[in-house]
This record gives sequence, C-alpha cells and structure tokens, in this order.
Amino acid sequence: MPFFVRHRVRKKVEEDVAAAGRRRVTVADLEESKKRQLQRLSEGVKGYTLETCFGESGCQNAVVISAAIVSRLEELLERADLLSILRTHWGEKLKLHHQFRVTLADCPNSCSQPQIKDIGIIGETEVTCDPEACTGCGECAAVCEESAVTLEDDRLMGIDYGSCVRCGACARVCPTEALKAGRGGYRVLVGGKLGRHPQLARELAGGLDADQVVALVSQIVELYKAHARKGERLGAVMNRIGWDDFRARVLSGSSS
Ligand code: SF4
Ligand code: SF4
Ligand code: SF4
Repeated sequence: MPFFVRHRVRKKVEEDVAAAGRRRVTVADLEESKKRQLQRLSEGVKGYTLETCFGESGCQNAVVISAAIVSRLEELLERADLLSILRTHWGEKLKLHHQFRVTLADCPNSCSQPQIKDIGIIGETEVTCDPEACTGCGECAAVCEESAVTLEDDRLMGIDYGSCVRCGACARVCPTEALKAGRGGYRVLVGGKLGRHPQLARELAGGLDADQVVALVSQIVELYKAHARKGERLGAVMNRIGWDDFRARVLSGSSS
C-alpha cells in the first residue's frame, strides 16, 4: 500500500477511535477498519467501468466528440449484464478492480490509458494534404512530434502515414488548410491489463465510425462472456484463444 494511502487509513482509524472516546488504537480497531474498507470496495460494483478522458471539458487536442458514443456504450455494457458473469466467478468476493474496463480517449495522447484496459477506444483523425495551398510557414513540421510532415524547400510534400498517429495537430496550426483534418474516427485496442502479468492492449481495428465501434465492442463483450474462466481479464482470454483466432472471431461477428 503506498505511503499516502497508509497514512490516510491510519488517520481514519485514529479519528474513529477518538470519536469513540478512546485514545489507544487496538488490533481489533484495525481489523474493523479493514472490514469496512472491504465492504466499501464491494459497494458500487456494476460489472464494468466506462471512463473517458477530459476531452469533453474542452481539451484543445480532442479530435472526436464522444458524448454520443459514451451513452451508447454505457447502455450496451449495462445490458450485457457483466455483473452476473463476474458474480458467478467471484461471488461475494467481487470487488471494483475485478470489473470489465472500457475507456475512451478523444485523441491519440490517450490520457485515459486505453493501453491497459480491456477495451481502449482512441479518437483519431486522418489529415489530408493540398501542397498547392502551402505558403511554407513551417508550423506543421514544428508541431508534429512524430516528424511525419515532409517539407522540401519549405513547401509541403506530404505526410508519412506510417509514422503519423492521426492527432490532427498539424492541421490545427496550418493557416491555409493545406493540411486539413477529416471527420474523425476511432481505433479499438483490446486486452490491456496490469496485475501479476501486465500486458499492453493490441490494436484490433482502426478508422471506425461510432456505429462500427459500438458493434465491435458488442462482439468483444459477447466473446468475453462466452469464454472468460474464473474471472479472467479479456487479455487472458485473448492469450488463451490466440490473437489470430480472437481477432477473426470478433471481426467476423462470431463470438462463440
Ligand atoms: S486524450 Fe487527448 S483529448 Fe483527451 S484529455 Fe488527453 S489530450 Fe485531451
Ligand atoms: S496528424 Fe499528428 S502525427 Fe500526423 S502528421 Fe499531423 S501532427 Fe504529425
Ligand atoms: S502549416 Fe500549412 S502552410 Fe505552413 S508549411 Fe505546413 S502545410 Fe504549409
């Protein structure tokens, strides 16, 4: 347990003991406090978590507006009743950290950590080039952290789409629309986790619109429900089935 958490727990136990009119903390007080902590951890478990980054609150880097997709995903996850599946594995021991985790980031900066969640959804935008409109200001190359913009004699030549992470930063600074961001879409990562055997999520698909993301998440959740053993995380299910097979099943819509 990190120092600041230990400190907070100790302080809380001391406060409770003082409120009871005593000055000395006993082993029984600590045990009682531990029981209450565990009780709190079990409350509010709904079988899944759905998080987002701070894009909605006006982050200038956001390349998608994900409010609509979030409510659709919330509905889907609620309907999937992951809680029942997890309860059959964990019973009364089910805790917040056992839940199926989905997160959405509104740009490739990925502040909500999609790489370590069961499903990570990342907003992206493809930038198109019109070299004729370039005035040679150099702003795009200066802002691109991937060195993906090619300028020659201060003129736009193109974008190396192999290095480009589709963040749209170059288009935001281009004064002439020689670089222009598209409508925005999503890529979906699966199988990230921490714990005893941490692993980063793998990219399942990219260039998806909102409908395709919702359909894909539905397939992934169904496959998870059909194959998870003893509260396995999605990453473990994926490893057991094998990446190629897993990928083929969810992309073809066959989750059995
Ligand atoms: S992921 Fe991107 S849009 Fe979301 S808070 Fe981070 S920088 Fe902003
Ligand atoms: S979209 Fe982002 S990564 Fe791609 S070229 Fe523009 S600034 Fe670079
Ligand atoms: S920001 Fe636009 S105008 Fe300036 S060099 Fe890049 S493409 Fe050309």
